[in-house]
Amino acid sequence: MNQRDTLTINAAGHLTIGGADTVELAKKFGTPLYVMDEKYVRDMCSAYRTAIEEDYAGNGLVLYASKAFSCTAIYRIVAAERIGVDVVSGGELYTALKAGFPADKIYMHGNNKLPAELSMAVENGVGCIVVDSFAEIDALEAICERAGTVQRILIRVNPGVEAHTHHFIQTAKTDSKFGFSLADGTAEKITLYALQKKHLRMEGYHCHIGSQIFEKESFCLAADKMLAFMAEMKSQHSFEASVLNLGGGYGIWYAEGDAQYTVADYSLYLKTVIAEVKKKAAEYGLKEPYLLIEPGRSIVGEAGITLYTVGTIKEIPGVKKYVAVDGGMFDNPRYALYQAKYTAVLANRAAEKPSEVVSIAGKCCESGDIVCANVSLPRAETGDILAVLSTGAYNYSMASNYNRNLVPPVVLVRNGEADYIVKPQSYEDLTRNDVIPEFLK
Ligand SMILES: *Cc1c(COP(=O)(O)O)cnc(C)c1O
Repeated sequence: MNQRDTLTINAAGHLTIGGADTVELAKKFGTPLYVMDEKYVRDMCSAYRTAIEEDYAGNGLVLYASKAFSCTAIYRIVAAERIGVDVVSGGELYTALKAGFPADKIYMHGNNKLPAELSMAVENGVGCIVVDSFAEIDALEAICERAGTVQRILIRVNPGVEAHTHHFIQTAKTDSKFGFSLADGTAEKITLYALQKKHLRMEGYHCHIGSQIFEKESFCLAADKMLAFMAEMKSQHSFEASVLNLGGGYGIWYAEGDAQYTVADYSLYLKTVIAEVKKKAAEYGLKEPYLLIEPGRSIVGEAGITLYTVGTIKEIPGVKKYVAVDGGMFDNPRYALYQAKYTAVLANRAAEKPSEVVSIAGKCCESGDIVCANVSLPRAETGDILAVLSTGAYNYSMASNYNRNLVPPVVLVRNGEADYIVKPQSYEDLTRNDVIPEFLK
């Protein structure tokens, strides 16, 4: 079990997170329930920020990739940690602005930003837009001309680095809907195109080589390719990019076999990448660029757990044992999407040794509705509280109302105290937008 930085087992044998007893949390707030430890989130933000302050003279900014977990409170927390955010939709932008997040520290991404999203970003003074197509450049130039502003932009490129991660969450191969390839000349073409635009200030490049990556070498290789390309643009077109955004993708611990990094390890991880940027910038005769990184999963992933109550238990003799919980793919679709691995713990009997291997099933009408497959647990009984660990990223943000199940609420824990940051939904919420048109009446 992961006991680093946030999780422990108390004298009652209960799992605790951020000093709060998870069995008490389940009693007070009900299940299913997402729980996030504020301290872990803050420590991660500051670990990354400190690496840039200490090893790069503060010449950069950490952007929290808020698609990992987006709600008003999280933007407040990361703003207090003096880092920026990236958003990938009008909805994330709206939430960040509503939280009072400083617009100049918001970066906007997306391979198909809608005209309305681009206008919204420009009108609200979003710091930087990471453009990903020629059409977007034209659309953005027109919007900025009408608004009488000049928008800072970066161009998303594809460095062609193969990161050792799950195929479906690898985005920087040449066959990707994201970015412009460095290798085939398209990144150069769009650079020249963007530089002609009067209302766009082209500042540099962005890449994101994938997600759940543990090899520092992948990031160093990406940095090297990006700086080599920047040097080429400088020598061929006298364009020296001042900003380099290396994206996110740092891996986290989910289950046995994953590396276990402490908060401090992530700081060192970034320092390794910074050292590479400095070395290569010197080698290529470039000014050290303003450095951006965009961790999402690693900031919130291990900060969160999901609590469920065990319901039906079904043993198929000689095949498998299913332990069903009161959640499922509506609160965590990641197993259904890509067989994601998780670790589960009986929160009310956390000190007991595992005695069997079971699969945790959800309550949705889909046989693929599994929360985690083949986990070792003590013999679970109906009524036990089950905690699935490392669910802070891409769980709540990917949740749905499938089967008209309610998206669970989220509570934030601070020093043992807990309160809602996302309230429970009601059945009323489910029908709020339903209407009966005249012709059905
Ligand atoms: C998803 C994404 C991130 C964050 O990735 P993590 O693996 O959560 O760190 C950062 N930048 C971009 C452009 C992304 O699409």
